[in-house]
Amino acid sequence: MPDKKFKPSPYNYCDYRCERCDEKDNCRVYKDNAERVLQHYLKGENPDDPEVFLKDLHNIFAKTKSMIEDMAKKQGIEIDASPREEVPEVDPEEYTIYCIAHEYFKEASSFIKELQTSDIPDSIKEDFTDLIWYHTLIAAKSGRLVSGFIDDFFDDEVQEVEEKGTLQVIKKGIDLSKKALQNMLNELPDHLPQIADLMALLKSLEKQIQTDIRQKV
Ligand code: SF4
Repeated sequence: MPDKKFKPSPYNYCDYRCERCDEKDNCRVYKDNAERVLQHYLKGENPDDPEVFLKDLHNIFAKTKSMIEDMAKKQGIEIDASPREEVPEVDPEEYTIYCIAHEYFKEASSFIKELQTSDIPDSIKEDFTDLIWYHTLIAAKSGRLVSGFIDDFFDDEVQEVEEKGTLQVIKKGIDLSKKALQNMLNELPDHLPQIADLMALLKSLEKQIQTDIRQKV
């Protein structure tokens, strides 16, 4: 193993908010994503539909993993070359952190659907967009995080970088979602019960990250 530290590209652990990112002109993922969106529109699908997006995220993670593998090889870092069939499949629902994230995803989805039938005040449109974006991303990244716990495809160094990067994105999603929900509460006080439940789930997720990300249910 060479002395060189493994350095992933920024897109490995970004939040895919490309419209806010300075890296897009040089970003392979951004270019692929533009193509993904175009393909959905050509097929008459909504690329922002949570189900469509979740499926896409699965593909994005698979691709990202392959890019990390390429980079690791170029840097002379050994990776486990075991055939993928020998790697056990993880059940994400065995892990508390994923269960909380998934519960948040389900509750936030139903809140979002309810709000989509009403007029959202202009002052919180961006917050609403953040809520939509991150409720999916937090769940998907939590799934990615726990799947790494038993995945020995990467060596320890790469695995550690992968885990830290994934947690960083989850934490960013939690922070921005909390801010969005707080702003939404100011404009939509009638929705206090749902917003309070969502806030509680986000806090519980934060606590789980601070205490034990590997805890099983
Ligand atoms: S995927 Fe998007 S947000 Fe991530 S680094 Fe590329 S341009 Fe930036």
